[in-house]
Amino acid sequence: MTFRSSRWLLAPVVAGAVAAAGLSLVNPITAADAGPAKGKARNVIFINGDGMAAAQREAARLYLAGLDGQLTMDKLPYSGQLTTSPHDPASPITDSAAAATAWATGEKTYNGAISVDVDGNPLPTLGAQAKAAGKATGLVTTAQVTDASPAAFFANTANRSAQDEIARQYLEVTKPDVILGGGEDWWLPAGAAGAYPDKPAEDTSEASKGTKGDLITEAKAKGYQYVSTADQLQAAKGGKLLGLFANEELFQQRPEGEGDVYNPPASLATMTDKALSTLSKNKQGFFLFVEEEGIDEFAHANNGTRMLQALGELEKAVAVARNYAASHPDTLVVVTGDHECGGLTVEDTATSDESGDGISAEDGPFPIKGSSLSFNLDWTTSGHTGADVPSPRSVRWPSSSAASTRTPTCTTCSPRSSPADPPGRALPSRIRDGRALRSAPPDRFAPG
Ligand SMILES: [Zn+2]
Repeated sequence: MTFRSSRWLLAPVVAGAVAAAGLSLVNPITAADAGPAKGKARNVIFINGDGMAAAQREAARLYLAGLDGQLTMDKLPYSGQLTTSPHDPASPITDSAAAATAWATGEKTYNGAISVDVDGNPLPTLGAQAKAAGKATGLVTTAQVTDASPAAFFANTANRSAQDEIARQYLEVTKPDVILGGGEDWWLPAGAAGAYPDKPAEDTSEASKGTKGDLITEAKAKGYQYVSTADQLQAAKGGKLLGLFANEELFQQRPEGEGDVYNPPASLATMTDKALSTLSKNKQGFFLFVEEEGIDEFAHANNGTRMLQALGELEKAVAVARNYAASHPDTLVVVTGDHECGGLTVEDTATSDESGDGISAEDGPFPIKGSSLSFNLDWTTSGHTGADVPSPRSVRWPSSSAASTRTPTCTTCSPRSSPADPPGRALPSRIRDGRALRSAPPDRFAPG
């Protein structure tokens, strides 16, 4: 896939979110085509199912909703599809850092980059620009709050592993109002255990390791209310909120039966709900990033049981977002994934396992809700793949004409007028099957 076609793919998410929120990016393509002001949303909730592509969604649909059912995210009224390749000299397959940078800035970059371009120059981020526009901002994740996906919306670093530097930038540069998730280890120096003890039995490698001082104390000094338990989170009343609920991720990502745990101290839905009630106090609106990380991490471990559990938790968070949007119709909800993980397929249980043992082995069977049938998951890798990612799976919700699935708004593409189309212009119909993306007109965007 070319860089040119990548712009086709990024445009719906980035330009759509930006235009709908009344923001503008420095990126000349999105800025020049920011679209009509009519129908702008005040609020944006951008939800990432990390590692979630078509097979993960189908597995979740069968498991959680049944043969004829739909996931909450399936019921969103607009649909699209993304390819995900990075602009990396060494790999055609993206990591979460390059993928999230593309979302947050509109620019392709190399794996490991946190909103810096291929030469390491910092790029304007959606989170920073939302704040500059007077909106409240926040991030919620079951990963470390400083992990690559949320980081790309609120920080600029050449290396995603510099999570203590990312935390410092949150406090001193981009200042998101709500920060909820894991990763306490990066907010405290070695030897300062914090609320979550160093070297716990479930993972003795976890221990505080920040190099930027006691950032939790700094956060409090800057007006953040700091919480570390679900009860404290529920009771919190401040307009600035830092919640750290684990040393690292809010789960233990291991193969099935080898110490795998998914039992976050505060669920993604709970954190999302609190973030929304906090951010919505801002009269100028908000930008909120929400992420379920367990989908990706358990797919890396080829652990279908836990991956499905994480997908179920994502569903609950999507429901929270949709409920909010139902009573706040000036809210744009986007649900998508950053890349596929595991080379996953959904298979009939009647077939023999043709793909071998180890990481290629079949996983299952898993029951289909409301049916006597079941399915197998079949993995081909423990890494990411280049499979397309369904969505941006929503535009504004509820829509005035939400009965049918439509293409996403795309303010940079050729018009395909329809009275029922949302504000902005719709993708050409040939875009919708994904394959056509690779034959986009060569003069559409110049390589940059
Ligand atoms: Zn991954």
